[in-house]
Amino acid sequence: MNRILTTLAVTASALALAGTAQAQNLTIANARIITGVGGRIIDKGSVVVKDGKIVAVTEGASKAPAKGAGKVINASGMTVIAGYIDDHRHIIHGERGPAGAAKFMKDDAAREMMELLESGVTTVQSGGDSPAVFDLRSKVASGEIKGPRIIASAQVPVSKMKDEATVRAAIDKAIADYKPDSIAEVHFPITEPPSTNIPTEQETRNLAAGIDEALKFHVPFQVHTSAPGAMTAALKAGAKKLVHTPHFGWLTDDEAKQVVTAHAWVSSCTGFGVPVFGVFNHNNVPTFRDGSKWPDDILNGEGRGREAGYKAVNGRTLWDNGVDYGYCTDTNYYAPAALAHELRTLNLMFSPIDMVKILGQNSADFIDMGDKLGTIETGKLADIVILGANPMDGYWNFLTAEVVIKGGVVMVDKRGKPNAGKPIVHNP
Ligand SMILES: [Zn+2]
Repeated sequence: MNRILTTLAVTASALALAGTAQAQNLTIANARIITGVGGRIIDKGSVVVKDGKIVAVTEGASKAPAKGAGKVINASGMTVIAGYIDDHRHIIHGERGPAGAAKFMKDDAAREMMELLESGVTTVQSGGDSPAVFDLRSKVASGEIKGPRIIASAQVPVSKMKDEATVRAAIDKAIADYKPDSIAEVHFPITEPPSTNIPTEQETRNLAAGIDEALKFHVPFQVHTSAPGAMTAALKAGAKKLVHTPHFGWLTDDEAKQVVTAHAWVSSCTGFGVPVFGVFNHNNVPTFRDGSKWPDDILNGEGRGREAGYKAVNGRTLWDNGVDYGYCTDTNYYAPAALAHELRTLNLMFSPIDMVKILGQNSADFIDMGDKLGTIETGKLADIVILGANPMDGYWNFLTAEVVIKGGVVMVDKRGKPNAGKPIVHNP
């Protein structure tokens, strides 16, 4: 009997090794568990992880763990939540050419990937960054760089292109060259409001051709639209993944319903027009998200930072009309502060339990991983954040990640370290 059990155990661990190189079996015990499923919260319970997946979520105090349960994390007084998903971040910054990419990979990549993990982000989709993002994707997947799961986008600015044939050729080339997970950085229209929100006929044809061409390869297509009229025009051209909440003008219920009818998704980026503090300076000077002057330098700004109001209210309009509304920052600055900024703005219109859905299941849906990520549920990948404080008491407690697990691998463990359990809101 013992021999049979030993043989089974060896086989199981060999399989685990083949599948997820460093994943270990884990039990997180005595935790408050925010499941993300229908608002369910377990006051005290356990999450069991095997071979990179969640295999049990149970209520009650933990007894002695079963044999083979692996490492036990006693999370008494702590809160378990699904790993955060940023649907659109500009992961790679600096000069876009090969020299800039090389510099980013050498000087910044490892540190910035850790900063994302430390904030609780376990999956991030790039916003059409330089091709270095594909190198980064493989280095993270192989474990050479420790970081969140990278959903890598190829940049194809279709609105600027001459005609549909050029667009289709550019999409084919990007897919052949990079095998991207998505296409991105499509601004529609290219001349942004307030000067106009009406795309030209050629832009509309280009967008429709680009989406259709990418679809042939099952590659999703992210579109930036920043006005309600542009958003509905993009929906008519077949857009499904809308990167921003529109911010030039108020969205009507009818426009929001068009998103639902089109089976499309929207991610937040509500922080776009809201002044950023404590990131580019510590002198209480409001800045736009690139560190320039607020409100003067808001991209195509209307003045006085009205975009902040449009985005917040329009986000709620989308939500109330049944849109699957996810989370994105669309920034490239210090990741924990970007999370803090976006949650601060979402907090105006959404409850903490709404934010759980926005950061989790809805964001997973946006990247077509809704069946694999976004909740603490049996069968999902073990992307788990253990928070030092309860986010139901206030959004700032989402910023208290102490343990961050990706695919069953403990990537961050700050328990017992200085400032563990304290929210990170500023760039140090
Ligand atoms: Zn973007």
